[in-house]
Amino acid sequence: MAEPVLALRGVSKRYRIGTPAEVEVLKPTDLTLAVGDFVALIGPSGSGKSTLLNLIGLLDRPTRGTVRLDGRETGPLSDAELTRLRGQALGFVFQFHHLINAFSVAENVCLPLMARDKRLTRDALSRAEVLLDEVGLAGFGSRWPGELSGGQQQRVAVARALMADPMLVLADEPTGNLDTASADEIFDLMRRFNRERGTTFLIVTHSVELAERCDRHVYILDGQVSEPGPGKKSRV
Ligand code: ADP
Ligand code: MG
Repeated sequence: MAEPVLALRGVSKRYRIGTPAEVEVLKPTDLTLAVGDFVALIGPSGSGKSTLLNLIGLLDRPTRGTVRLDGRETGPLSDAELTRLRGQALGFVFQFHHLINAFSVAENVCLPLMARDKRLTRDALSRAEVLLDEVGLAGFGSRWPGELSGGQQQRVAVARALMADPMLVLADEPTGNLDTASADEIFDLMRRFNRERGTTFLIVTHSVELAERCDRHVYILDGQVSEPGPGKKSRV
């Protein structure tokens, strides 16, 4: 069987909120994501969703437990090695698109490769044009982000997340700031990349309607992760 994209084993996160007070914002968690999974992460505000995504995204280290990405144990890696692995294996979409206004739309899409190659290549720019075409923004490459609608900006953010051909895309409330029609479009786009490329997605959403379009539902409440439900296949 193929190596899971992601395997968390006993992963927890504590924050020190005073001395000696500590709070465990993520309880010990096991979670496995297989290649091609399309998973909703659902939980109220403050339940630990972003904490979990930051650990999976190698932006933060767990207090306890192991994070394996593509079979590779990440605990022993240096910060520089984590950054490199993050750039190769992961893509990110946030609630706010975080496009850089001083860069053109195409240059924004190129950012993940610029971070890796330390320069903007002609190859990267032509790949960005292909991705922009795939997200319905053919010909928008030379525009500025500020000229685009909110939904279009988020489509640019999805193209950017796919630029380095990641195995796993982490989307933290990617449609939280959009009207229903734009949210639908963003969701459809992610679904299409999932089907066509086999990219795995973990998507934080508050929308029941959007969550229903995911294959798996992972819940989190007060830092406790569960994947329950009669008739739902649990792979935790
Ligand atoms: P969500 O994304 O589900 O809204 P978060 O993961 O952002 O939740 O936060 C979970 C809990 O952890 C919250 O109670 C939050 O206040 C707390 N928290 C998050 N980051 C820190 C931090 N750096 N220090 C202390 N507490 C934090
Ligand atoms: Mg959050």
